[in-house]
Amino acid sequence: MSPGSFATADSKRRAIPLPRPFSNMQTFTPDSSIASDVIPSANFGERNKGRVPDMILLHYTGMPDAEGAIAQLCTAGTDVSAHYIVLEDGRIVQCVPESKRAWHAGVASWAGEDDINSCSIGVEIVNRGHDWGYPEFPLRQIAAVIALCRGIMLRRNVPSHRVLAHSDVAPSRKKDPGEKFPWHSLANSGVGHWVQPAPVVRSEGLRLGAIGEEVRGLQQALAHYGYGLSITGKYDTTTMEVVTAFQRHFRPAKVDGIADHSTLVTLQALLASLPAETATAT
Ligand SMILES: [Zn+2]
Repeated sequence: MSPGSFATADSKRRAIPLPRPFSNMQTFTPDSSIASDVIPSANFGERNKGRVPDMILLHYTGMPDAEGAIAQLCTAGTDVSAHYIVLEDGRIVQCVPESKRAWHAGVASWAGEDDINSCSIGVEIVNRGHDWGYPEFPLRQIAAVIALCRGIMLRRNVPSHRVLAHSDVAPSRKKDPGEKFPWHSLANSGVGHWVQPAPVVRSEGLRLGAIGEEVRGLQQALAHYGYGLSITGKYDTTTMEVVTAFQRHFRPAKVDGIADHSTLVTLQALLASLPAETATAT
């Protein structure tokens, strides 16, 4: 075993190299019973006004390898972190206690709230992402994400419709975890809000530059679901980015930012299946 590497019970497993400040960081008992390792991150703070988290935000790491991602998320000075990192082999590493505010969302908003770090638990899923070839998510990794999220949902009373993608809360900046992320598999296990998307058929659709009541209705529906956008009646860049984020999550067969028939029908079906008392006032 080389200095700085991490011992695991199974020597066949690849060791997780620890970032340098590990020895100075205070370790803690993991909140999740299925976390296999704790690698304390230096990057966290207090939740604003003691906000109790009621959202799970899923990310991909978007880096060439897991070691680099762990170092990035745990080393002091990077100003980023997450509560959990899910490795490709399904191991779950906890880096920030759930009671603390991890730094994963950045500038973001959902359902009228913009301090997403204070209201959420951040889960980074190791995947190289769109900039590095965007591989499929291995089954064992998805199984681990499901088990982790189920536990958090139960312990923290997180409703399904608040298990979200980073791209949902930051549509103009983020793509993760992206259109290959199997939201339907999560939903089959009770994690996340999802409906079978309406089939893609040839249709005109609303697109960049469109103006009118139909655009206004689309914007109202997206905002009602939780997306952060203004109701202007103009299909501007923000609207296109939100529609793109919606498609990555809920209609991944075609991600083009055009609100076609399938996109509109899928959005209406999602709204209709939201628990009534939790719909966002717009
Ligand atoms: Zn992210």
